[in-house]
Amino acid sequence: MTTGRTYLDYNASAPLRPAARDAMVAALEVCGNPSSVHADGRRARAVVEAAREEVAALVNARPSEVVFTSGATEANNWALAQGWRTIALAGIEHDSVRVPAESSGAHLVEIAVTGDGIAKVETIDRQALAPGEGRGRLVALQMANNETGTVEPVAEAVAFAGEHGADVHTDAVQAAGRIAIDFAALGVATMSLSSHKIGGPNGAGALVIRDGISLRPFLTGGGQERRRRAGTENVAAIAGFGAAAREAKGDLAGIARVKALRDRLEDGVLSTTSDAKIISGKAERLANTSCIAWPGKLAETLVIKLDLAGIAVSAGSACSSGKVGQSHVLAAMGVAPDVAKSAIRISIGTATTEQDIDAFLAAWRSMRGDAQIAA
Ligand code: PMP
Repeated sequence: MTTGRTYLDYNASAPLRPAARDAMVAALEVCGNPSSVHADGRRARAVVEAAREEVAALVNARPSEVVFTSGATEANNWALAQGWRTIALAGIEHDSVRVPAESSGAHLVEIAVTGDGIAKVETIDRQALAPGEGRGRLVALQMANNETGTVEPVAEAVAFAGEHGADVHTDAVQAAGRIAIDFAALGVATMSLSSHKIGGPNGAGALVIRDGISLRPFLTGGGQERRRRAGTENVAAIAGFGAAAREAKGDLAGIARVKALRDRLEDGVLSTTSDAKIISGKAERLANTSCIAWPGKLAETLVIKLDLAGIAVSAGSACSSGKVGQSHVLAAMGVAPDVAKSAIRISIGTATTEQDIDAFLAAWRSMRGDAQIAA
């Protein structure tokens, strides 16, 4: 962590774990293309395969089901670019699911969400999921939301989709390392993961594809990843992803501590700011995420003021830099625009300390009465 800074933006990118860094540095020393048959190539291949086992173990999948990609954006795009006839999805999905769904040419079916941001699977139009011509029908439902932390009913979506013979894709980017994921038991067809949300490097991820499901490759060319994803593997990034996955599995043991810190932060905010609101506060949500609205203030200004005080948080979704404007997630939940535009996201992790929370609360208190932050 940069000295003197308080980093509370893990859902944007978690800090690189030392173990991931070490694994990457070691992998950079390996000269060789994992597809080469000579000893150097085989060493590179061994690095990739060890990481595959670690990523598989994090989500209880088989190593053969893990295909490395350049990140979850590619993994989501790939899962959606299958020529689906119908895709059911909720307005709270990440842009890397929503945008490819919209441009896929599929018939889109909306999954309604509650005011707390939980998908109402039973609202999916059964007629639209009925078998018919064309490749098939997909229900896309994220496992946890990046802005509010809501944990979504993916098992219910699998049961519902199964009644119609439809497939399910889940974006598990924010859930990994924060709730237990059992890919084998869940029954989804595909699941996306991202390295940098669990303390690995940016630019690595995976699409986990249930054995027996065959997908059209998204990137074509060479025969890498058992002909499923062309392109020479990013060996160092994959090594870092694998090390991060190994450690993230252990994070679950410390998740109660993370929740206690998050709850202390929220209690501190609510006790000093009577009009502040915890978005999705009553829903089942990740232990590390807090979406706080402070009606009358402007989120972008709160983020800048906090940044000047040495604290990193986000306004809504910070995935696209410089993104200003209303969060589509909060809009889909029916959050009033004046509340939504005051919402900031605080997201923490196992390295977060009591001092980090104290620093946030001190800065928050100092912003009360700051006329510059008015909406
Ligand atoms: N899905 C969710 C829920 C995310 O939060 C993100 C990252 N903001 C992504 C997908 C995209 O992941 P990546 O940065 O690895 O492309």
